[in-house]
Amino acid sequence: MNLTSNYIGRFAPSPSGPLHFGSLVAAVASFMDARRNDGTWLLRIEDLDPPRESISAPARIIDQLNAHHLHWDGDILYQSLRQDAYSAALDRLMQSGLAYPCDCTRKNTPAVYPGTCRDKPPGTVGKPHAFRLRVDTPMISIEDHILGPQQWQLGKDMGDFIIKRKDALFAYQLAVVVDDAFQHITHVVRGADLLESTPGQIYLAGRLNLPVPHYLHFPVVLGDSGDKLSKQTHAAPVSNHDAVNNLKHSLGFLGQQVPHRATEIGKLVDEAIANWNVNAIPKRLAIAQFLRGS
Ligand code: GLU
Repeated sequence: MNLTSNYIGRFAPSPSGPLHFGSLVAAVASFMDARRNDGTWLLRIEDLDPPRESISAPARIIDQLNAHHLHWDGDILYQSLRQDAYSAALDRLMQSGLAYPCDCTRKNTPAVYPGTCRDKPPGTVGKPHAFRLRVDTPMISIEDHILGPQQWQLGKDMGDFIIKRKDALFAYQLAVVVDDAFQHITHVVRGADLLESTPGQIYLAGRLNLPVPHYLHFPVVLGDSGDKLSKQTHAAPVSNHDAVNNLKHSLGFLGQQVPHRATEIGKLVDEAIANWNVNAIPKRLAIAQFLRGS
């Protein structure tokens, strides 16, 4: 693995099921952008939330990536094995007064948390409790590589958000920030459904004195019903037998020049890397699946 590379990207699937067309597009986009930039591409399995996961999904995902010739560098990082690192980050935030316990129930809490437990004296918060990050910065802005300048008023848009859940599971927001830094990720390439998580992650990285990566959010794939493809909307797993076509569809969806004549998967991937043009990715938040060019 070339850790001196100026570009370290990653694909970070949650193993709620095998890859469907939408998650394959995420793998393809992050892989192609890393390889086009002579970068490293890492695989992180975000197995943080056992009740929502399928035990067989990590092995299926690995098999699907291999069948599609999307080969990662180095060892796979499993978030289930990273609990000590998340605990250490939470301890640091608690010690510096940047996080606090919260026993509010979901039922009595609006989407943007009003800070009810913020200033409760230590020991007066009931158990079980979650932990929230104190959000005090008014503005967060980034230059997204596709969507251009983005700006949020974090306190208003997100509020004090959860970093460890009441059920004792660490929240995605904390784990992703700790692990992007641990893996020295320089470029986060992911679907625009995660755009709204980005300001919180940038803020949290700042609180932990961790570097902030570059961001590129590509449009998410919508199914026939207009919802994002996901296991919940019964998106079909991509078949390893159709790997060549699946890759061509993914590239078409991402606005790329598709190597139509390539029939051998290795050649197809090489040509796609050579052709990869990040500026051709549609500057939209979502695109319907039927536009994928099948
Ligand atoms: N694990 C997240 C998902 O599968 C993606 C995390 C990320 O790319 O930041 O939706």
